[in-house]
Amino acid sequence: MINKFQFLIIVFTFFIFKLGFSQPEVPVEKWKNKTILLVGAHPDDDWLSHGTLALLNKNSNKIFILTLTTGNVGTKDLTINKNDLSIIRRKEQLEAMKVIGLTEKQYINLGYDDGRLEFANREEIIGKIVYYIRKIKPDVLMSFDPGFNYQVWHKSDHRASAYLTADAVRAAEWHLMYEGQIIHQNLKSYAVPEFLFYGGNVGDRNTNVDISGFSELKILSGSKYISQWSSGWNKYLGSDLDKYPDGEKEKVFNRLKNRIKYFNDKPIEQFRYYKGMPDGMGREKRD
Ligand SMILES: [Zn+2]
Repeated sequence: MINKFQFLIIVFTFFIFKLGFSQPEVPVEKWKNKTILLVGAHPDDDWLSHGTLALLNKNSNKIFILTLTTGNVGTKDLTINKNDLSIIRRKEQLEAMKVIGLTEKQYINLGYDDGRLEFANREEIIGKIVYYIRKIKPDVLMSFDPGFNYQVWHKSDHRASAYLTADAVRAAEWHLMYEGQIIHQNLKSYAVPEFLFYGGNVGDRNTNVDISGFSELKILSGSKYISQWSSGWNKYLGSDLDKYPDGEKEKVFNRLKNRIKYFNDKPIEQFRYYKGMPDGMGREKRD
């Protein structure tokens, strides 16, 4: 029989091994000169990682955001049409990116309809993601977490984004897949070496990024998504929060502040880090 103390040591060792095995060799806070590609479904999904992106940008990493849809149904305001909402959300996205030091040149939107990713042509959309993976050649790819040893349930576009991205990563490394890009567009097959998955289950997250010094920027960038995270969701009154009634600006900033997570009194963002062959991103090693 083992006593309680020995049991705790075993459990502790197991977790240290598991975490140590899967965490980045160099902490994310020290990454330099890497190329990072974040893929998301909507023009605000990247906000979950804006502290990390601001930090990485400051540390001379090159960042690109690839968003699959225009976000053109995300409103409860009956007076806004899809076209107008696409325009509003592009502007909000670019404003938010500007706050964390990113420009329009670092933003790619594939223009798919919001809420319809699951019904989009998979071969076509994966081909487009493959194209940008081969073109940008990211050292690190950030994506909705497709799950580890099981499939994570996300709402539909997020779920689609997680799997489309995972499938695109896999296709990008095979030169006979989407070979037209290689023959006619001067691209090469490319294997993504490292991954940071966001939005997955809390228990699967193995990496904390200390965003001290960047959490204020994250809050400020979040405040740009007025059509999403203010009373503009129900009644959109333009892109200036000062023009919204009832102290809306203060409410929005407080809400965003409350969404910042802390660990040991430091603001953090959490991810599941993975390094290795794409086939292993969702499971432990098998025989
Ligand atoms: Zn989303």
